[in-house]
Amino acid sequence: MTSGTTGKVWFVGAGPGDPELITVKGQKLLAQAGAVLFAGSLVDRAATLYAPPGCVIRDSKDMTLEEMTAWLIEQTRAHATVVRLQTGDPGLYGALIEMARPLSAEGIEWSVVPGVSSAMASMAAAGESMTLPEVTQSVIFTRVEGRTPMPEGEDLASLAAHRTTLCIFLSITLMYKVEAALRAAGWPEDAPMLVVHKASWPGEEKILRGTLGDIKQRCREAGVASQAMIVASPTLGALHWETLVRSKLYDPTFTHRFRKASA
Ligand code: SAH
Repeated sequence: MTSGTTGKVWFVGAGPGDPELITVKGQKLLAQAGAVLFAGSLVDRAATLYAPPGCVIRDSKDMTLEEMTAWLIEQTRAHATVVRLQTGDPGLYGALIEMARPLSAEGIEWSVVPGVSSAMASMAAAGESMTLPEVTQSVIFTRVEGRTPMPEGEDLASLAAHRTTLCIFLSITLMYKVEAALRAAGWPEDAPMLVVHKASWPGEEKILRGTLGDIKQRCREAGVASQAMIVASPTLGALHWETLVRSKLYDPTFTHRFRKASA
């Protein structure tokens, strides 16, 4: 790069684990990157697969936020394209704004390339739908309180009272809190639940199905204690229901902008 110019930082969603689930745009940016800072062991495969020879590749797992932003800023002095590679989508539990603010303060340009979140990949792995007509039309992405406190009004019991699809991140070691919250919200013991460990990771994905009453035991038996998505949803298992309300869009008796009703 010519002296005096600075490069741009791209926050790229690597997707949930399968390197083929990065976006085409994310893969192209990696292929032209001069430097890549990737988030722990989760996304190293995409970085090493797609970054060009000679690219500076650094794992951020032992770095503080200050060290990461300093590293990114330093790399923009030498490279036109600097990639911060994050798991799933960078805007979900990704410290995106904390990392972007020091870049903006230095006048360094940055952009975000979205990624396939592990919530999407987990439902895809299980062949489940987040929404179903007349069952639920809403999805909540949340977590239970760990060291990061939950803002007021967002405790899982009050969110669960809506009876929508709940995708619960960062909480597999706190399953007892998840269960207590669902019970407090009145979910029955036989409410279906899903835990997906390493969704989309070739050869490592585990799909556990159970109920509010037994999912913790199933996780214990399967040895799943990290990198897992917990889903509680009234849509789970709908593949095997006897009756299902149809989507209006594909209903033969329903007219819309692109199709006239046939009956
Ligand atoms: N930005 C990421 C989430 C980062 S928080 C995203 O959009 O997916 C990390 C949490 O994400 C983990 O605790 C776990 O709950 C979930 N997670 C990340 N990758 C996963 C995967 N491959 N399978 C299941 N859960 C995963």
